[in-house]
Amino acid sequence: MLIDNKNQNDIIDEELKKTFKIEYNFENKPINRVKTKPKVEDKIHNLQNLKNKIMNINDCKLKSSASSLVFSDGNAQSKIMIVGEGPGQKEDELGIPFVGDAGKLLDKMLLAINLKRKDVYITNVVNYRPPNNRKPEPGEINRYSIFLKEHISIIDPKILILMGSTAMESLLGGGLKISKERGNWKEILIYKKSYLTMITFHPAYLLRQADQKKFSWEDLKKIKKKIEEFN
Ligand code: URA
Repeated sequence: MLIDNKNQNDIIDEELKKTFKIEYNFENKPINRVKTKPKVEDKIHNLQNLKNKIMNINDCKLKSSASSLVFSDGNAQSKIMIVGEGPGQKEDELGIPFVGDAGKLLDKMLLAINLKRKDVYITNVVNYRPPNNRKPEPGEINRYSIFLKEHISIIDPKILILMGSTAMESLLGGGLKISKERGNWKEILIYKKSYLTMITFHPAYLLRQADQKKFSWEDLKKIKKKIEEFN
């Protein structure tokens, strides 16, 4: 005698299905509930728009004394975005961020965690060289922070790296000490979206204070670990 081993739940499920009026098509693939990624062309278009806005800024002491607009370098599709302070002489000459001595150190720091420029996207708080390489003034940092926030939301990085106190101040406001804030992952909210952020020392500071490199190395290792987790 054959015994039909039907589970009680199977019977109920079958009966339940018969009561459905709708024909279902089952597909064996996951449902994409996440919003589709912004298209590459949109990103390029939005970056160009932002660049035009910065190019057309009025009454800016930085713009009037600089030779060129220094917008960005690296890969706009990267999920790692680095923010420095502002262009120096070399950057002003070439229109590219981080190409002087601090830039060379930045390249070495990236290489230490297996990254090249093409793997990251780099920009600065201010996009014109401050006269005599002075630190941007609070009013300038504030004014350019609007552009920086837009820049970050266009690039939409998974990891945001703020190098130096000016980058920190631009997004978190004044009154913080970088020696206290660096080295811990933070969530920074920009236009209602939260960005995983690491604050770390600026390479130019490390060139002056070589004994601080050990802290920087700790931060770099944390960044490397996070990249591995994401991969
Ligand atoms: N320092 C910065 O913060 N940015 C540069 O582009 C160069 C030096």
